[in-house]
Amino acid sequence: MSGMSDPRRFIPRTDVLLADPRFGEPLSRLGRVRVKAALARAQRRAREGVIGPERVADSALAELRCSGPRRVVNATGVLLHTNLGRAPLSEAAVGAVWAASGTTDVELDLGTGRRGRRGRGALAALARAVPAAQAAHVVNNNAAALVLAATVLARGREIVVSRGELVEIGDGFRLPDLLVSTGARLREVGTTNRTSVADYAEAVGPETGFVLRVHPSNYRIEGFTATPGVRELAGLGVPLVADAGSGLLRPDPVLPREPDAATWLAEGADLVTASGDKLLGGPQCGLLLGRADVVERLRRHPLARALRVDKLTLAALEATLEGPPSPTVLALHADPEELLARARVLADRLADAGVQARAVPSSARVGGGGAPGVELPSAAVAVEERLAGPLRAGEPPVLGRAERGRYLLDLRAVAAGDDEVLFGAVVAACG
Ligand SMILES: *Cc1c(COP(=O)(O)O)cnc(C)c1O
Repeated sequence: MSGMSDPRRFIPRTDVLLADPRFGEPLSRLGRVRVKAALARAQRRAREGVIGPERVADSALAELRCSGPRRVVNATGVLLHTNLGRAPLSEAAVGAVWAASGTTDVELDLGTGRRGRRGRGALAALARAVPAAQAAHVVNNNAAALVLAATVLARGREIVVSRGELVEIGDGFRLPDLLVSTGARLREVGTTNRTSVADYAEAVGPETGFVLRVHPSNYRIEGFTATPGVRELAGLGVPLVADAGSGLLRPDPVLPREPDAATWLAEGADLVTASGDKLLGGPQCGLLLGRADVVERLRRHPLARALRVDKLTLAALEATLEGPPSPTVLALHADPEELLARARVLADRLADAGVQARAVPSSARVGGGGAPGVELPSAAVAVEERLAGPLRAGEPPVLGRAERGRYLLDLRAVAAGDDEVLFGAVVAACG
């Protein structure tokens, strides 16, 4: 029945498709097996008449383009967006990951040819960044840091913690559940809005593993509130573990209310935990900074092996700490006037290209990674709200935020070098 006019005769052959230069990039990124499977699916769709034979290559290319994590332009005005992978890595960190991706000296001392301490470069960089820390250890994330601390210091014993600090981190993960899962018991003290040193002091005793202080990094309780400072809690005669969450290593004048590891250690915390991919702007990891004997106990525990980070993370962390400011730090410190100037240039160019666009002042924020309630003055390009879908479906996808009938493309979290990408994406979304 497939006569000369049957369009199925024109379905391109696999070897012909594989030789098409447009498949060079997917072939090197995804491999031959994956590409051939996509081609087979597209050819079948053509045989079934779902698409025309001339659409086979494009259909397979479209499927392959959506494979694997994709780069997304973050024009939401939220600097640290967990759904967008939190902190983008600096160029220095990307370069270090690349260099470390082959065989590397992660556990070898090239000077002596002997085994070296794993990740010593990253640890030395942490020591330089936070001189108040006698020692440092790096694990998979801040949750892992807390699990390790609770297991080693409080398993079968009590963690004394304020009721106002039993937080949910996000996606249903609750700090109290995480801590209890280690076999530690929680000894809750105080109330949601007020807890005093006396509350802690009364609860501390022979059963205490440590006192835990948690920084509420994704919400703020305002009004009639009280929480003792780290300095006061450090004087209770038991170890003090302080979860800084956001990962500031030193005070940052832009975020005066955000705690930092150096200050808390100077105030007497025995151990500070923090995330690497929040305000530090590095890879996902958990930092444990503090007293040498405590850090050494954690490092030696069998669980530490299960929570350890890979060579790529160590490379990225070291480069983030030693290299130029990370994209997150640059975004946090961006000058609102410069952001507005960039928005004006973009809006003018878009208008010239026939797109309805206007530069407007905007308000950005840090996001779940820290500084709840803090507004960062910013600037955005306002476009029609109907562009939200096409922008998200574009290449690269762009995420902005809907506000009062407009779609705002906030520039604070967009690197200046990406304005051109944003311009192209908006023009394409209108087309
Ligand atoms: C983000 C956060 C965590 C969890 O950190 P991860 O690195 O995502 O595991 C824990 N505690 C606080 C206070 C946080 O802000």
